[in-house]
Amino acid sequence: MSIGTLFVLSAPSGAGKSTLCHALAQRRGDVRLSVSCTTRPPREGEREGVDYYFVTESDFGKKLDRGEFLEWAQVHGHLYGTPKGPIESLRAQGYHVFLNIDTVGARSIKKMFYDCVLIFVAPPSWKALEERLRRRNKDDEATIQRRLANAHREAAQVPFYDYLLVNDRLERALDDLMSVVQAESCRVRRLHLEPDGLPKLGFERGGEPRD
Ligand code: ADP
Ligand code: 5GP
Repeated sequence: MSIGTLFVLSAPSGAGKSTLCHALAQRRGDVRLSVSCTTRPPREGEREGVDYYFVTESDFGKKLDRGEFLEWAQVHGHLYGTPKGPIESLRAQGYHVFLNIDTVGARSIKKMFYDCVLIFVAPPSWKALEERLRRRNKDDEATIQRRLANAHREAAQVPFYDYLLVNDRLERALDDLMSVVQAESCRVRRLHLEPDGLPKLGFERGGEPRD
């Protein structure tokens, strides 16, 4: 069995990365989403342990001191951290793991995992981004303004990424994301080769976890 690939997805808030990741995980049984810890209060409809682990600043600090985070960052005035534990165990079972994290976190992860894949999701326009943030209807005006201001700073990081997906129509962006995952899982450097350099006989198709 090959080790699963680590994918990092970043985007300005409201560009649609959570929507895309959840849709991808529904389409591909071999994808798992990392669940971060955050000190941000839950939005309406968000579920503990599914969208985030919602923690106090003091609990976040304790986890940090115990070395439980692979990376962490302050984003839009709140703390966010990626729990270390599940990632390696899921990858060892052959699952592709998606981290939905900001551009600072993406840089930290790239330093630790040189072969991870960085994907940036952009909205079709700044106007569309603002409309989506407002239509989501889950943040107050000050929060929306702070997120829009940060969006330009985040977009400046695009050259550091491996792929840029424009989330204009959801289905099209999802197809692009599926293609990236499929292409990456076919990369020769990710295959287990025999000492003679050939794939094992009966080598299974990349993309689904194997028995
Ligand atoms: P993010 O996780 O990047 O902050 P979300 O996934 O929460 O963004 O999406 C923000 C809002 O935009 C949500 O209301 C979502 O339903 C909507 N959305 C996502 N993708 C699209 C799209 N392609 N077209 C229109 N609306 C979208
Ligand atoms: P939101 O509050 O909209 O869910 O997320 C705000 C920002 O924090 C997004 O850019 C999201 O990708 C980022 N984020 C979420 N979890 C983590 C994490 O564990 N680490 C880092 N560095 N960023 C995160």
